[in-house]
Amino acid sequence: MEANRVNGSCNEVFLANKSVEDYVKDVMVCVRDCQKLSGELAGWHHYRDYSGVERTMAQVNGLLVSLVTNIFKHQDIKIGLNHHKLLDQFDMVREGNDALLERINSDIDEASGLKKNADAEILDPSGMKKVEGPATATGKNVVLLASRSVQKPQIFFEKKVDNSHKRPFMPLIQEKPNNIKPLSIMLCIDDTGKEYYSQPYEYELQHWNPAPSLLEPVTPQPPNPIGDTPIVMVETEEDLARMVSELKECKEFGFDLEHHSYRSYQGLACLMQISTREMDYIVDPLALRDKLTILNEVFTNPKITKVAHGADYDILWLQRDFGVYVVNLFDTHQASIVLEYPHRSLAALLSRFCKIEANKVYQRADWRIRPLPEDFISYARQDSHNLLYIYDLMRNELIQKGNKLNNLITAVYSRSAEICMKRYEKPIVGPDSHMEIYRRSRKTFNSRQMFALQALYLWRDRVAREQDESPEYVLPKHMLLQICEVLPKEMQGILACCNPIPSLVKTELLTMHTLIREARQQPLLDIKPTTLENQLTSCQASDDVGSELINRHDLSQCEENPVGLPVLINPGDNLLGDLFEEHRIRVALKELSQMFACIKTELDHKLKGHYELSKQFISPFERYTTYMEMKPFIEGEKKKGADQDRIQRIMDHFLTLTENTERDLVAEKEDEVRAYRQEDANEQTPVPLNLQNLSFNSVPEEPQEIIKSHERQITHQAIDSFLESARMTADKGQDTVTQGEAERVGQLLLHFRNISGSPSKLRQGSPSSEEEMADVSKEVKKTTKRNRKRVEKKLVLGDEVKMRKDKNKAAKRSSTEVPDESPPKRVKVEDAASEEESSDSQSEESDEPAGFDYSTADYSIFQKAKLKAFRNRPIHEKFRAKRVKKNAKVGIPSLQ
Ligand code: AMP
Ligand code: MN
Ligand code: ZN
Repeated sequence: MEANRVNGSCNEVFLANKSVEDYVKDVMVCVRDCQKLSGELAGWHHYRDYSGVERTMAQVNGLLVSLVTNIFKHQDIKIGLNHHKLLDQFDMVREGNDALLERINSDIDEASGLKKNADAEILDPSGMKKVEGPATATGKNVVLLASRSVQKPQIFFEKKVDNSHKRPFMPLIQEKPNNIKPLSIMLCIDDTGKEYYSQPYEYELQHWNPAPSLLEPVTPQPPNPIGDTPIVMVETEEDLARMVSELKECKEFGFDLEHHSYRSYQGLACLMQISTREMDYIVDPLALRDKLTILNEVFTNPKITKVAHGADYDILWLQRDFGVYVVNLFDTHQASIVLEYPHRSLAALLSRFCKIEANKVYQRADWRIRPLPEDFISYARQDSHNLLYIYDLMRNELIQKGNKLNNLITAVYSRSAEICMKRYEKPIVGPDSHMEIYRRSRKTFNSRQMFALQALYLWRDRVAREQDESPEYVLPKHMLLQICEVLPKEMQGILACCNPIPSLVKTELLTMHTLIREARQQPLLDIKPTTLENQLTSCQASDDVGSELINRHDLSQCEENPVGLPVLINPGDNLLGDLFEEHRIRVALKELSQMFACIKTELDHKLKGHYELSKQFISPFERYTTYMEMKPFIEGEKKKGADQDRIQRIMDHFLTLTENTERDLVAEKEDEVRAYRQEDANEQTPVPLNLQNLSFNSVPEEPQEIIKSHERQITHQAIDSFLESARMTADKGQDTVTQGEAERVGQLLLHFRNISGSPSKLRQGSPSSEEEMADVSKEVKKTTKRNRKRVEKKLVLGDEVKMRKDKNKAAKRSSTEVPDESPPKRVKVEDAASEEESSDSQSEESDEPAGFDYSTADYSIFQKAKLKAFRNRPIHEKFRAKRVKKNAKVGIPSLQ
C-alpha cells in the first residue's frame, strides 16, 4: 500500500499521470527519432561545421602531415605535402612509399646476392662480362669489358674525392721538388669572378727552355723487342721508390696513362705506363694513389725529358689524382702537328715509325679491373714502349726541317710546356649547361620540355656529384632527352623511357617525377629567338600612349633607358621602394615625364609633417649612377651567404698552408716569437724548413730569405682573410671586432714584422713582446673599429685587389726578386695603423685616402664602403647638397 502511494506520487511528478508503459513508449519514440536524425547527420562534413571540431582536425592534420614529411625526409625523399589538397596528399604519400619500397627491394636483392652491388662485390675477372669488340686489322677479335662488375676503387681511397662545385680544385702538392720559387699556392680570381688555385709549377714552366743538347740530332735508338724488355709491375711503395731512383738516372723516359670516367664524377687515372730505354714499368695508381706525388722528383726535373703522345689530358689527370706536374715535356702529338703529318694519332705514328699496327680498342676498356688481365698489360705497355724511339726520329726530323734557330723543335717544346701549364679544374655546370645537349639533339622543345631538360640536367649533375658517378651513368643523354620530350605523367612513363633502367633512376624516381610534374605546370610557349626587331617594336609601342602630339623623333615619351639600364627612380620599378620607405621620403613622379621628380623631404625628423616639396630634374645618368651606388647593397644581401663561404675557404686555405709549413704561425707562442726574432737578428741559425728542395738553376743566395718570403706570404694571407672578415662584419653593420680576432692579427703583425726584417712603424723601440703584442692588438682593434674604411681601402683595395687583378705579375717577377729584403708591398698594415693617429684631423667625408690607386681599384668594394656612409645618412641630405646649390643660384637663402 505504502509502495503504491509512493508510486502514485511518482506518477504524478515524473509520468504526468501516464502509466509506466505509456511513458516507456514515449521515450522509445524519442530515442528512435533521435537515432534516425543522427543517422541522417552521419557525414563528417557536418561535424566540420562546428568550429571546435574543425580546429582540432586541422591540428591533427597538421601534425600528421609534418610527421609523414619527416619520415620521408629522414629517408631522403622529398615530398612537399604542405600546400596540397588532401587527395593529392594521398597520391604523394603513395608515391613516397613506392620510392621507399623500391629502395628496400633493391637493398634486399643486393643482400640476397641477386643484384650485384658494384660497391660491395668481390672482384672476379674470370667471371667478367666480356663484350666483343670490332675485328682488327690482324683479324683477331678483342674484348671490351662492361664496367658493371667492377668494384668502385674510390671506396678505398684514403682521401675522399671532393666533387663539390663550391670549392675550386686545390692542388694536392705538399712539397715542390725542382723548384725555382718555393711552393706557394695562391687563391686567384679569373675574369669571370671564378676562384681557382694557382698552378704550382707555372713559374718554373715559364722559365724553362730546352737545353742546347736537346736541340741536336741523335742516333735513333730502336726499342728493344717487347719480349726482351723487362716489365716491372709497380704496386707497392718500395717498388715505387726503386722506380723513381732508376728514373732519376735517365736522360728521358716515355709515359702514358689509362683512365676511367664512367663510374666516377671527375674520372680516375687507373694505370700509368713508364718506359725507359731498357724497361717498361706498369704503375698501379689505384693502389698507390696518395703515394705518387713522389714522382714529381723526376717528372718536374728539367733535365729529364718526358715523352708522351697527346698529353693534354694526362697532364690534368696527373694533377688531379696524384699532384704530379711535368716540366720538360716532348709531346709527339704536338710534334706531328708541327711537322704537318696527315695522321697524328699514336697508332699512325706507330705504324709510320715502328711498323706496328696498334689495336686501340683497349683504349675504352675498363682500366679499374684488378688484377690486370695479360692482354691489358701488353696493350698498355705498347702505348709507352715505343715513345722514345718515335721521339728520336721526330726530333731529328724537326731539327732537319727547322731553320738555323731550330724553330720547329723549339715550337714543339714550347707547345708542350703550354700543355704542362694547364690547370685542372672541376667540371662546372650553370643554368645553360643543358643547351649543349639540346643543340646536338636537333630536337625542338617547347617551354615545358626545356624546363624539364634544364631541371633534370641539374638534377643529374647533382646526383652524379653526390654518388661519385658520371652524369652519363646516372642517366644517359638519350634517355634524358627522351624523358624531356615525352614528359611522362606517371612514374611508370619515366621508366618506360629508359631501357635498361639506370639504377639511380629507380632510386631517384620520385624526385624526377616531381621535376617533370613541375615542368608540366609551366605555361606552354613555343620558344622563339627574341630578335632585335621584337625589342625595337616593343619600345616604340609606348609612343601612342597618352599623347596626341607624337613625333617619331620626340623621344620624351619613350623609356628613358632604352638600353635597359636600371635607374633609381623609374615608375613601375620599385627596386628601391623599401629604402625610400625606410627614410620616410616620398618620391612621386610627374605623370608624363620621368625627368622631373617631386621630392618631398622632411626638414626635421622631429617636426613631423614639416616638409618641403621640390621639383628636381634628375637626369637619367644621375639615376643610373645613384642606382649603381645602391646596387651593391641590394645585391649585397644575396651575396652575403656566398661571401661567408668564401671567407671560410680562404681561412681553410690559409690553415692548410700553415699546416704545410713546419711552423704554426697562427698559434705561435710568445717565447717562440722572441726566439724567432733573435734568430732573425743573428741570421746564423738555420730556419726550419725543407732546404733540400731549394735547388735547380739559380739557387738563391740566402735560403732563409725564401723561407721568410714564404712565411710572409702566409702571413699576408692570414691578415687579408682577417680583414676580409672584418669588412664583412662592417657590411653587416656590426661595429666590433672580437678581442680574439684583434689579438690574432696583432700576433700575426708582430710576426710579420719579425720576418719582414723591417723596424716596426707601429711602435719605435721594442718593449717586451707581451706588451707590444697587447699594443698591436689594441691598435688593430682601434684601427678596424674607428678607421675601418681607411684600412679597408689601403689594404683591400691597394693590396688584395691589386694582387688579384695582377695575379700574373707576381709570377712573372724574376727569380732574383725572391729574396727581396724590403717588406712586400701587399701588406701595409703598419702604415695604415700609424696613419690612424692623424686620421681624426681629416674630414670624415673624405672618401679617398691619399695614394688611392684608381687604376687597380676594385670599385665594387669601393662602392660598398661608400654605401655604408650613404646608408647611414638620411636621404634628404643626399639631395640637400644639390638643393642648396640650386637655391643659391636663384638667390633663395638656404634652410638650416
Ligand atoms: P691513350 O692515351 O690513347 O692511352 O688514352 C688514354 C685514356 O683516354 C684511355 O684510357 C681512355 O680512358 C681515354 N680515351 C682515349 N681515347 C678514347 C676514346 N676514343 N674513347 C674513350 N676513351 C678514350
Ligand atoms: Mn695517352
Ligand atoms: Zn694509353
